[in-house]
Amino acid sequence: MTEPTIFTRILDGKIPAEILGETDRVFALRDIAPQAPVHLLVVPKTAEYRDVVEVAEGDPALLAEMIAFAGELAKAHTEDGEFRLVFNTGANAGQTIFHVHAHVLAGGLNEKSVSA
Ligand code: AMP
Repeated sequence: MTEPTIFTRILDGKIPAEILGETDRVFALRDIAPQAPVHLLVVPKTAEYRDVVEVAEGDPALLAEMIAFAGELAKAHTEDGEFRLVFNTGANAGQTIFHVHAHVLAGGLNEKSVSA
């Protein structure tokens, strides 16, 4: 059996984290190493999908739910509701946790590139 991912362990209460909200299928937490003034993560409760391409193919409604939830979080955590959504996809692109998650970044993002 494969090891549970960090996000599964957080969801199970085995690793502490600042959980900001949840639905039946997704939850959100504050990133432990923020790359922007607002840096949140939206994560499906299932660890079935390793990255955004897999979830887009396997369960597009779940991907849509992640994006809608990102929008709600941005409304709650920013003044203008505006944000950047990043899905690192693959180790060479900076992905370190292979349980799909969206980075919701906001505040001070005038520059074009942010490595989340
Ligand atoms: P990625 O590199 O795209 O896979 O993103 C993983 C993100 O998870 C990074 O931005 C990390 O800072 C963040 N992260 C890792 N461990 C934790 C944790 N225990 N609580 C919150 N965020 C975490």
